[in-house]
Order: sequence, then C-alpha cells, then structure tokens
Amino acid sequence: MYRSHNCGELRSSHIGQEVTLSGWVQISRDLGGLTFVDLRDRYGITQVVFNMDDNATLCEQARKLGREFVIRVTGTVNERSNKNANRPTGDIEIIASSLEILNASKVPPFIIEEETDGGDDIRMAYRYLDIRRPNVQKNLIFRSQLAIQSRKYLSDLGFIEVETPVLIKSTPEGARDFVVPSRMNPGEFYALPQSPQTFKQILMVAGMDKYFQIVKCFRDEDLRADRQPEFTQIDCEMSFVTQEDILNTFEGLTKSVFQELKGIDLGDFPRMSYDEAMERYGSDKPDLRFDMEFIEITDRAKGYDFPVFDNSEYTVAIVAKGAADQFSNKDIKKLTEWMQRPQVGAKGLVNIKYTAEGVKSSVGKFYSDDVLNEWKTDVFSAEDGDMVLILTGEKEKTQKQMNVLRLEMADRLDLIKAGDFKPLWVVDFPLLEWDEESERFHAMHHPFTSPKAEDMDRMMNGDHETMKSLRADAYDLVINGSEIGGGSIRIHDRELQSKNFDLLGFSKEEAEEQFGFLMGAFEYGAPPHGGIAFGFDRLCAVMNGQSSIRDFIAFPKNSSGRDVMINSPSAIAKEQLVELSIDLDIKEKHEK
Ligand code: ASP
Repeated sequence: MYRSHNCGELRSSHIGQEVTLSGWVQISRDLGGLTFVDLRDRYGITQVVFNMDDNATLCEQARKLGREFVIRVTGTVNERSNKNANRPTGDIEIIASSLEILNASKVPPFIIEEETDGGDDIRMAYRYLDIRRPNVQKNLIFRSQLAIQSRKYLSDLGFIEVETPVLIKSTPEGARDFVVPSRMNPGEFYALPQSPQTFKQILMVAGMDKYFQIVKCFRDEDLRADRQPEFTQIDCEMSFVTQEDILNTFEGLTKSVFQELKGIDLGDFPRMSYDEAMERYGSDKPDLRFDMEFIEITDRAKGYDFPVFDNSEYTVAIVAKGAADQFSNKDIKKLTEWMQRPQVGAKGLVNIKYTAEGVKSSVGKFYSDDVLNEWKTDVFSAEDGDMVLILTGEKEKTQKQMNVLRLEMADRLDLIKAGDFKPLWVVDFPLLEWDEESERFHAMHHPFTSPKAEDMDRMMNGDHETMKSLRADAYDLVINGSEIGGGSIRIHDRELQSKNFDLLGFSKEEAEEQFGFLMGAFEYGAPPHGGIAFGFDRLCAVMNGQSSIRDFIAFPKNSSGRDVMINSPSAIAKEQLVELSIDLDIKEKHEK
C-alpha cells in the first residue's frame, strides 16, 4: 500500500491513528535532534517528524532527503504543539516510524512553491515541475471543473457532444491555417480546423438539433499574451432558434458556471448594439467595470478659432474623476507621448483641469474660462478635481485611440475592483466590413453569418454602398472587456450563401470548390440554425481575474509558437519528407 491518506486530508480527528503517506519532499529541515519534512502532493502538505531519540537510523535517513525526493512514510498522527493556521493540515504532524525512498530527485532548477524564482522559459522547459506548484494545479483543476460544469449544463438541456474531425480543409475564420501533408495523396494537404464551423452546421442539416463540443481549434497567427496557436472552444449550435433563443441559452450557461464555480450571481446581462458600443466606448468589447464613457463634443468645440477642432470630423472627451491633482504637466506630457506612439497614433492630447482654484487647459488660449466652465456642468458633468481628456481626428481612428486612453486611465487611476465581473452582449454587428486597402469586403464574423431578416432584401438587390450598412444577427459575449464568446444566426439558404460568397470576392468556382458541400447540404432541407463558441481558455482566465490564458493551459506554446519542453516544432528526417512528397528544394525555389 502506497498510502492510506493523501497529504491534504489529515486533521485532529485522526490523532493517534497509524497512517501511510506518499508524496514529494517540499523541504527537509534538520534541527539537530529532530528532522522535519514537508511532504507534498496535489491535495496539500503534511508535516512529518523524525526523532533522533526514538529512531536514530531513521532520522539519519531523513536528513539525507533532498527536495523533490519521492518517499513513502508510515507513522502516527500527533497533535502539533505549534499549530500552523495557514495549512488545513496544520493542527497535526506525523511521527514517522518508517521511511522509504521511492525515487530520488536532482535538485530542481527553481523553487517549487507558489512564489517561485523560476522565469518563464525555465518553467516551461520543466513544466512537470512547474505543474507541481499549487497555484498552477489550482488553475488546471479549475479548468477541469469548468469543462465538467459546462458539459453538465448543456447535456441537461439536451445538447449532444459530437466530435468533428481534426484533419479537414480550410475554414475561413480569418486566420492562416496549419496544414498537414497527406502521404496517401501526394502533393495534397489537410488543414487543421480554425473551428468546427462548417461541421456543426452540417450536423444541424443532419437533424442533430443541439450540438456542442469542447474542442481544440488551430490558428496560425502571431501570438500575444492571450493567443495560442491551439486553443479550446466550447462550440455550440442549435436548430430552429432565433438570436434571442441563443442569447438566453448561453447567458444561462455563463450564469450557471459563475454560480457553481465562483458562487457569483451575475444578474441579467445588459445588451448593447455594436454602434452604441462604438459611440459610448470606442470598442466592440467595452469594459463596463468603470465609467469614463465617451462624450462627443465635435460640434460644441467648433467656432472658437481653434483650427484643429474646427476642421475635425470627430472630437471626443472622457472625464477622469479626481485626476486633476494626480497628473502634473510632466505626467500629461508623458501620457501624450504615450498616446502618440505609432501603435496608438494620436496626433495630440488636449486636457482641461477643473480645480478649486479655477480651470486650466492646454487650449485655454482658444476657450475662455467661461466657456470651459459652462462645459463643466452642461457637457461633462464634471466636478472640481476632475480632468477632462480630449482627442480629435478621423472618427473611427479617434474612437479606437480614445478606447486605448480610457483603458489606460482606468489602470492608472486604479478604477478596477478585483473580483468584479461585468458581462454584456454586444449585438447587431455589421455583416460586412469594407477594407480600403484591398478594396474588398471581409465578413465581420464569418461568411456563414446571416444578415438580419429585414436586411435580406437589401442584400440580394442593393448596390455597393448598401452592403456597408447591412446588419447581421451576430453577437459577442463580453466580460470585463474580454471577448468571451461570439456567434451568429447562419444563412441556411443556398442562394443567399452564394450571394455572400460573391460579395466577399469568391468566384463561383472558388465558392463551389471550397464550400460546395455546405451549399449542397442547404439544398436538402437545412433548418434555420445558429450558434456560438466560447473561448474556453479565456473564460478560465477571466473567471479568475487573470489576463494570460497560458496559465490555464497545461502545456502552452511560447511567444514564438514553440513548446520548449518537447522542442517542437522541429525538423523531420529527409526520408519522411520524401514519403510525404514534399519538395526538398522548395526553400530554394521560394528564395528565387
Ligand atoms: N466558429 C465561430 C468562431 O470560432 C463561432 C460561431 O460562429 O459559432 O468564432
């Protein structure tokens, strides 16, 4: 028997019992007559005591234990004289009567405790040691519970989990595909799914009615902290539903997992149209944990001989509460430079400070104190101590810049309360997005998204300009400024789907070659249907108030897309390449 109990379960009620524990040596402290070992496993840490007077040989053996040795100990549960209130097992200790080393360990390259001295690279290279740390284990356990709770909720509603293939052909979700060469079909490639989108729609045509899958998706994109080349979705699809049905069902799922796993009642989720979100927050994923809503002052600001505002398409302000004292002129200069970085691209930053001593502004030359004081109450609802920040320029760009500034100010002013959750649905997304550079339309969600019923006619018969104004039955679930889920009601009619491909610049042949199977299926009684996919890794992170999804993935890739533990990707043998009919000179040909 390796163990009668685990390292997290013994309490005062076990005092006097003989027990056997197995685990890892977190630390061994030799205090002369006594040696203390902290024995760790997934469940906790139990203190084991070896007493020189009782058993000298055993104590000698214990003194030689190194960090991360795997041992088995038998002994008696004893009441501790100095209890450790920070540990669930802190009332007791084990007085050891036997010890066996099950496996020795090299000295680990970093400290295996919650607070570690190991940097990212080393922890990823030795991920098996990193995962021994209780905080990493906690994240993985949370992830497992979230998956189980989601499955339970959906299954109770009659959803069926169906596995869709991993070796498929390109699905256009807007990223690059990972591809896999086919040995049996020389010169041909599978693509890994960016999502199971077309398969779940096919399952609706097949009458499955309610589908879900917790599924790996693959997108070959440049990586950021919250992106991984392979990530997991809770992917869902339903038949005979409207947008309203989908929002209700998945608001239910979200509320349920927050309630069950965090004990948090999220209340009903507000809804906001895409247009409203852009006007009020300059973002389609607004963070509602703090205010600082946009106040547009384009017209108000004109007519004071300040050419920058006079000639501008759009001028917008936010009110930073109580910030007037906190930002010196030097701070504002630095903030302005920060906003002028190429990544943000603001031309300048105007400020107005309202203080008990009066109003001060970087545009005080053009706007008298009277005007600024009138704005204080009428426009900004500001008080003494507040600072107003103003950006101006081309509308869409300026909205995006102000979104960046709003988030930055929330951070600097410490406006975000830990443990606060603010969900919302953003709805009524545009169907198509016009790209000036390539002079073509892109699907705002994906090419299978349906226009709103009232826009279908305009889509089939309208002119080019009309297409820019089409709205879709497409929606995003946003929590704390993070996009947690997104989906849409789908097109289920061949002609409409074909028109959409046409608008997106597919030739008839290309559309047929890539999606003939789907449009073909639509000719055999496709039901009205729609769905959504949750970013599962991101949901894990957001529910725990963390920003990086990597902490919730057992074996994540680094920012160059590498797994440094197994050293992947890596070269493969020439023979393998030959077998796969991959042209060995392809690199040279590309270079020519
Ligand atoms: N397949 C979509 C995505 O990955 C989600 C959906 O439309 O259901 O974003």
